[in-house]
Amino acid sequence: MSGLLGLLIGSFLNVVVHRVPAGMSVVSPPSACPGCGHHIRHRDNVPVLSWVVLRGRCRDCATRISVRYPLVEAATCVLFALVGVLVATRSGSVGGTVQEVVLAAALLYLMAVSVALALIDLDTHTLPNRIVYPSYVVLGALLLAATVVSGDWGAFVRGLVGCGVLGSAYLVLAIAVPGGMGLGDVKLAGVLGLVLAYLGWGPLAVGSFSAFLLGGIFAIVLLAVRRTGRRTGIPFGPWMLVGAWTGIVLGTPIWDAYLHLLGL
Ligand SMILES: [Zn+2]
Repeated sequence: MSGLLGLLIGSFLNVVVHRVPAGMSVVSPPSACPGCGHHIRHRDNVPVLSWVVLRGRCRDCATRISVRYPLVEAATCVLFALVGVLVATRSGSVGGTVQEVVLAAALLYLMAVSVALALIDLDTHTLPNRIVYPSYVVLGALLLAATVVSGDWGAFVRGLVGCGVLGSAYLVLAIAVPGGMGLGDVKLAGVLGLVLAYLGWGPLAVGSFSAFLLGGIFAIVLLAVRRTGRRTGIPFGPWMLVGAWTGIVLGTPIWDAYLHLLGL
C-alpha cells in the first residue's frame, strides 16, 4: 500500500527536485519534454513503467530522459514500503489504530521531504526554505494530532525539546566552524530533532550522532581514495537525513544496548 503511494509521490518528488531550486511552481505548468517542449501525455507519465516502455526517450523527439527519474520513483516506492513495515512492526499490528495512521503519515511525509532535500542538497548545496519551513508546520501538526489521540504529552514536549536542542547545537556549530554547517543545515536540524525526540531520547541520540559518524567515515574513505578535490565538495544535509533515519529505525535498540553496557 505505502509502496504504491511511494511510486506516485516519487514521481512528484522528481518535479520538486527539478523545480524548487529554480524557484518554479511545482503544480504548473504541466511536465514537458526539455527537448521539444511537448507536454508529457498521461499514459507516458506512469512512474517507472513509462520510462521503461519508451526506453528512456521522449515519444515525440527521442530526447534522452535521465535514468534518475525512474530510479527516484523506484527508490521512493521501496522507502515508503519500508516506512509502512516499520510502523506496523513498532505497533505489532497492520493498519491498526488512528494513532498509528497519523504517525505513519508523519513518517511518510518526512521520508518524502528527506528524498527531495537529499537530492537538492547534492545538486545545488542548498536546503530550500520552501521545503524546510512547511515541514515544521506539517510535522508539528501531525505529531500534535498523534499526541491528542494517544494522550502521551510527554512525547510531544520531548519533541519540542529535541527541536530546540538539535537546532541550537547546529547553530553553535555553524557559528563556531565557518564554512562548515550552513543555516540550511541548522533549520533542517530543528525538523529532525522534533521527530527524533518525539520517538524517544534513543532515536534523538543515535540519529544525531549517526550523521557525523556516517559523514565522517565517508569523508575518510574519499580522502583515502583521493577523490575529494574541494573541502566543500560534499554537502552535509544528506548525512543528517540518513543519520536521522538510522535513529528512527535503530535508535531505541542501540540506545538500550548502550545504557545496558554502562550498567544503567
Ligand atoms: Zn521531446
